[in-house]
Amino acid sequence: MLRIILINFLPNGDIMLTQSKKEYFREILSQRLNELMEEADKTINEIADLKEESPDFVDQASVESDIDFVLRIRERENKLIGKIKDALERIDQGNFGVCEVCGNRISDERLKARPVTTLCIKCKKNQESKEKVIGL
Ligand SMILES: [Zn+2]
Repeated sequence: MLRIILINFLPNGDIMLTQSKKEYFREILSQRLNELMEEADKTINEIADLKEESPDFVDQASVESDIDFVLRIRERENKLIGKIKDALERIDQGNFGVCEVCGNRISDERLKARPVTTLCIKCKKNQESKEKVIGL
């Protein structure tokens, strides 16, 4: 009995996500991914519509800027889709929720707010202050 308790308190045990937490995050990530995929489809249709429905008298420049705007949203969506796929892969590989810089566990609160994150709050803050110094 004592042995089991000890094993549960090993620091490594803290790094591993429990199965139910894994499933929980897999669920929200998959859901978000589906939503984004649908959005992406819509975006493609929107662009097609914009091109099709713009008669000659419509200011071409404004159509172009509309398309530009839609494409920029699309780009952001694509990046997020990639991040979500990475996160799902990390769940499968078992390193989801582990900071890629310091190797510590990322807090549940942070994961719930931002499941695609790969940095714990401390490393994220470090990174941000470094970016500020470089002027990014
Ligand atoms: Zn960290």
